[in-house]
Amino acid sequence: MPATLLGEKALLGTTPSMFIGGEWITTENTRPVDNPATGEIFTGVPEAQTEHIELALNRARAAQTEWARRPLSERATVLTEIVRQVEDHAEELARIVVAEQGKTITEARGEIGGVKAFFDHALSQKYRTVGELMATSSPGQQLAIREEPVGIVAAIIPWNFPAAIFARKVAPALMAGNAIVVKPSEVTPLSALAMAKICQLAGVPDGLVSVVTGPGRVIGKALVEHPLTNMVTVTGSTRAGREILAQASEKIIPVSLELGGKAPVIVFDDANLELAVQQAFEARFWNCGQVCTCNERTYVQRGVYDEFVRRFVEKVAGLKVGDPTDETSQMGPKVSEAERDKVREFVEDAVKAGAKVEIGGGIPEGMEDQAGYWFAPTVLTNVNNDMDIVQQEVFGPVLPIIPFDSYEEVIEWANSTVYGLTSHVYTENMRTAMNATDDLEFGEVYINKIGPEEVQGYHTGWKLSGMGGDDGQHGFERYTRRKTVYLDYGLQS
Ligand code: NAD
Repeated sequence: MPATLLGEKALLGTTPSMFIGGEWITTENTRPVDNPATGEIFTGVPEAQTEHIELALNRARAAQTEWARRPLSERATVLTEIVRQVEDHAEELARIVVAEQGKTITEARGEIGGVKAFFDHALSQKYRTVGELMATSSPGQQLAIREEPVGIVAAIIPWNFPAAIFARKVAPALMAGNAIVVKPSEVTPLSALAMAKICQLAGVPDGLVSVVTGPGRVIGKALVEHPLTNMVTVTGSTRAGREILAQASEKIIPVSLELGGKAPVIVFDDANLELAVQQAFEARFWNCGQVCTCNERTYVQRGVYDEFVRRFVEKVAGLKVGDPTDETSQMGPKVSEAERDKVREFVEDAVKAGAKVEIGGGIPEGMEDQAGYWFAPTVLTNVNNDMDIVQQEVFGPVLPIIPFDSYEEVIEWANSTVYGLTSHVYTENMRTAMNATDDLEFGEVYINKIGPEEVQGYHTGWKLSGMGGDDGQHGFERYTRRKTVYLDYGLQS
């Protein structure tokens, strides 16, 4: 990681601190942060204690009361300044993402573009309709249903988009009049801390946005369970979502969950094969396969199966895996050793169960002695739909390709996992496309197209992929609550 990133004038100080109530706070105990491309520990961040949660939430309460009184246009002015600060520091932010997360610099720049888009969408809400008038039962009365902020939001975020998911939650939370305390992933705390600095530079009032760093099951849990927290928004694994939902149930507060996925790509015989191969490829390997919408299993109709596999493997052979700071690299390492080993285990188990490795299958050739958490882009065939590699989320660059015969068969297979986040269909037949849209049990359907999703849409999962979402109008509404006001102003006598 270049020294300037942690230098005096840079977003993060020489020793990154937590940002609580407008102050930068350090602790005696720190947690190391390593570079996935080299395995080298290059810094450490404070390990929060529960007293830091107490402080963050008390400061948030004071700040939120004042912020909620500000008109939406004033809140939008602050968010506009956040966008400007992100633009000014875009390259540095992208490099922080690469250093701690390992995606390529090109992908990281795209992620920072997403950060801006989330704030931009949120500030466009300054002209929103903030209530409704209902017909009253008597004259001289008014019955209004108002939209109000929820209060203090706890945001728990993962490592795969450490800057964009911060923005995805902070932007609507602030615009709706809330304060927010963010708990980033233990693996990638720096992007959230850098974004906290952006908020400070933009003039976000002290206390409105805090970032506390520490383990989910201790610090995340304390944040969720604290009496001052009014809402929880989580992006992460289904396991974490389930635990957090249980923690929040005592207090009966709203919980928004964006969880794991197992997105199918379905390619029918009549698909534009070139498009399907190209997009199935992109959707599997971006961010080293660590995207909740990634192509996790591709079903190809029998008539084009062999040709699809041949073209797909050819593309994989040309994929350039390497140093994520190199502008020409197309895929970086996995985020951590533990995550890399999980993927390796999935592949080994699949092979034991009869899968055939068409390409890849372990550490990339020539990188065996290199430090860092590398895994080769891998294609598996001779896989059946019941295998773990097809049923469980595999957050890595591994694709099982499975032949199918009929529409009914493939829809049943696509719907057969416990997840229901994203699905993709390739066909030139409108009837097939629209029937599949009707029949797929997923919160998102892409036809002849892949993501990333757009900020004005609604990225929401069905089944164990969660409930809720942060984007667009529907996402924004989750950061608000309703107050019904009955007024009797009387008739003019
Ligand atoms: P994770 O569940 O391990 O961790 C996510 C966050 O939750 C971290 O900040 C962690 O510290 C915290 N956490 C974990 N257990 C907790 C608990 N019991 N109480 C409070 N906090 C807790 O997930 P990850 O490995 O960081 O991210 C990968 C997962 O995120 C994948 O499953 C992926 O599909 C999912 N994801 C989903 C979306 C979506 O939009 N649906 C987007 C990105 C990632």
